[in-house]
Amino acid sequence: MSLTNTQLYLDGVSVTFDGFRALNNLSLAVEAGEMRAVIGPNGAGKTTMMDVITGRTRPDTGDVFFGGMVDLTILDEAEIAALGIGRKFQKPTVFESHTVADNICLALKDERTPFSALFGARNRIARERIDAVLARVRLLDHRSRPAAELSHGQKQWLEIGMLLAQDPKLLLVDEPVAGMTDAETEDTAVLLRDIARDRSVVVVEHDMAFVRALDCKVTVLHEGSVLAEGSIDAVSADERVVEVYLGR
Ligand code: ADP
Repeated sequence: MSLTNTQLYLDGVSVTFDGFRALNNLSLAVEAGEMRAVIGPNGAGKTTMMDVITGRTRPDTGDVFFGGMVDLTILDEAEIAALGIGRKFQKPTVFESHTVADNICLALKDERTPFSALFGARNRIARERIDAVLARVRLLDHRSRPAAELSHGQKQWLEIGMLLAQDPKLLLVDEPVAGMTDAETEDTAVLLRDIARDRSVVVVEHDMAFVRALDCKVTVLHEGSVLAEGSIDAVSADERVVEVYLGR
């Protein structure tokens, strides 16, 4: 295949846990600037796939390339994150006692930069950058509130903002709308579509209405391999997908 515009390429990846094949010759390519939804029944291998991409789990066989030619399988989690791969786990993990703006500030800073140098009253550049991120994740009006006061959905957006502050080239998002209200779910689809305008985004999700709202190519995993791939309408009409997933 041509890899000219490919941001992420898994080629024949297999992972075995105690003799059980969690990923079975999985191949998947995500273009630069593409949003991709990954769906499939419990145990299909979605989490293991994310773990392989981020270096938590090493594949037994197969290759994982980032940005066309960087081999991720020999790097550790910190090295992979530093390349520009951000991962959002299902549960929000924000600093509850800090304000919303401080959470973004903490994501911007490295361990050597004093907090005050970034967040001092005179630092209008950092403030502009923080506010731009907050506007993108719909939290600008909440910038001075403690994160603990946010709704569950807003905490999810704040954490997405914290990842966005680091300007990843690839954002991996695990079940972002679980536990959200319908309105928050709709807003999250709009928010992720906006974020995917300038980076690749891979979203693992069960909520089919939300997947439809993402309006992107869908990959269906089953028993560690790709069962089907295409538009939401195409995969929803696929008899194999209905049998193993949608028809439950
Ligand atoms: P999904 O995220 O699609 O629900 P997972 O990737 O979590 O699927 O799991 C795929 C399969 O691998 C499941 O059957 C699960 O029980 C198994 N599995 C995942 N991680 C481990 C592990 N660390 N040890 C043993 N089995 C595991």
